Amino acid sequence: MKPAFDPLAPVIIPVDTGEGFPVRRVFCIGRNYAAHAREMGSDPDRDPPFFFTKWAEAVVPSGTAIAYPPQTQNYHYEAELVVAIGTGGRSIPPEDAAAHIFGYACGLDMTRRDLQNAAKDKGRPWDTGKNVEQSAPIGLIHKASGLMTAGVITLKKNDALMQSGDLADMIWAVNDVIAYVSRFYRLEPGDLIYTGTPEGVGPVVAGDRLTVSIAGLSDLDITIAPPTDDV
Ligand code: MN
Repeated sequence: MKPAFDPLAPVIIPVDTGEGFPVRRVFCIGRNYAAHAREMGSDPDRDPPFFFTKWAEAVVPSGTAIAYPPQTQNYHYEAELVVAIGTGGRSIPPEDAAAHIFGYACGLDMTRRDLQNAAKDKGRPWDTGKNVEQSAPIGLIHKASGLMTAGVITLKKNDALMQSGDLADMIWAVNDVIAYVSRFYRLEPGDLIYTGTPEGVGPVVAGDRLTVSIAGLSDLDITIAPPTDDV
């Protein structure tokens, strides 16, 4: 039957080969760097990493001016390595994970920190804190099949260094992240996994510029736009 309105087209992110990567789903790892887990008030030795999800439509490419969202006074940046999945699989062993990787990109897991903290306090879901329109910016995807195990990751806000870490400090490495998520959901081509953020997260205001850099990848550049009802 004819659809009553146009279905949402997939978000397609540029790849360094000239192809486009159609986004299927977004998984985000939480508390994957010990120092960030501590700054969020948890003990990384007692609370292992975990994951939550965002809608695929929350993904936006580098160069986007993302609107400051409603219902928050404390919208935060989290600079993250993103793993793009090219080959599906369920219960992928860590030693086989590299074969499922399409490539890598710089990412941001933008977060309504006030709503996330309120949800934590009440034991409620994180959706309104994390799954926000335009909250999953991603840079150019670099096609690669090997495991990224080390490399400097930084975030600059208006040219000031706010976050600095190393991928080697991830509690779950890239292959562990793929293995873990695939135990709960069959990973599919088009899935993105945001792998967690190092310490130094903080707030933005309209007009701020954010730049995420990871050694070997293209920078992700985002600006924060005033609130709008259009997105
Ligand atoms: Mn995050």
